[in-house]
Amino acid sequence: YTETADGVDNQIAMVLDLNKCIGCQTCTIACKTNWTDEPGREYMYWNNVETKPGQGYPRGWEDVGDGWASEDRTERSPGEIPSIEGYGRHWEFNHEEVLLEGSDEHIAPAEDPEWGVNWEEDEGAGQYPNSYYFYLPRLCNHCTHPSCVEACPRQAVYKRSEDGIVLVDQERCRGYRHCVEGCPYHKIYFNMEEKTAEKCIFCYPRIEGNGPDGEQHAPACADSCVTMLRYVGRLDDPTGPIHKLVEEWEVALPLHAEYHTDPNVFYVPPMSPGQHTEEGETVDADRIPPTYLEELFGPDVHDALDTLERERERVRVGEDSELMEILTTNDRENQYQMEVF
Ligand code: SF4
Ligand code: SF4
Repeated sequence: YTETADGVDNQIAMVLDLNKCIGCQTCTIACKTNWTDEPGREYMYWNNVETKPGQGYPRGWEDVGDGWASEDRTERSPGEIPSIEGYGRHWEFNHEEVLLEGSDEHIAPAEDPEWGVNWEEDEGAGQYPNSYYFYLPRLCNHCTHPSCVEACPRQAVYKRSEDGIVLVDQERCRGYRHCVEGCPYHKIYFNMEEKTAEKCIFCYPRIEGNGPDGEQHAPACADSCVTMLRYVGRLDDPTGPIHKLVEEWEVALPLHAEYHTDPNVFYVPPMSPGQHTEEGETVDADRIPPTYLEELFGPDVHDALDTLERERERVRVGEDSELMEILTTNDRENQYQMEVF
């Protein structure tokens, strides 16, 4: 997974350990307040956290568009531009009437919503007592072979050479939205006011040393994560946590690798408790179906889960495990490796 794009030095990457996500949306709000709280961007969540299994944000994004049609990437397989209903409209609330004018109604949206971002929160799947769900935080993958870049006829979307971050040149963009349908992860958005495409910028001002205090910081989604599940650093440096998790331990996997864009965001898959009967007897089967995890993270997910279980067991019996040390660190210094950026 560590092939870097031609002409890109120091590809930046992120690993997210799904075993730690509690779905608090702190990352979503950190991103929103940093980058998308202006008019025209109301519906945008460059970082969103969706409940899986579920249709996600935008609704049904996994069912439309494959990125590249095949492994050799000679042809794209564009998807559809999601409707605003699919993303979820931002609703007007009766805050003024209730909070300022003394109405005794409950605070509620003015319209009767039928869909919205995070609509399926905590729904999941399965039957009691073995129902299950987990959270999947999603951002642009800053792919090594980004189909969004290929989709743009004006070369407005580009992958910058110093760290592989994928950006939209706002001067060149004419708002054709080919990139919106070209990204199989649906992580490029159309600014309704500016009429240009916009997307996650991996908080490049922060990593370049221009954070709010004038210092270098990891992206806001990582720095704000209350359970510290995000690792940020170079993909190809063998001493860093990203390389160790992706390449050495092989427990961090790309989402939907079959889109052939080669993401630089990787996930440690969620481990499951066992199933049990209504009477409480243990059944020898994982609560989250491994076949479902394979749909998301590919066939390597089984080996990754075996490795996680094996290393966890080593710690349980008092042995050392480098992998578990990386995954359970409570020091952000060990999670970030940004000196080269
Ligand atoms: Fe482009 Fe989508 Fe890949 Fe981001 S996730 S680089 S928007 S193809
Ligand atoms: Fe999950 Fe961390 Fe985001 Fe909370 S802040 S939703 S734990 S990724």
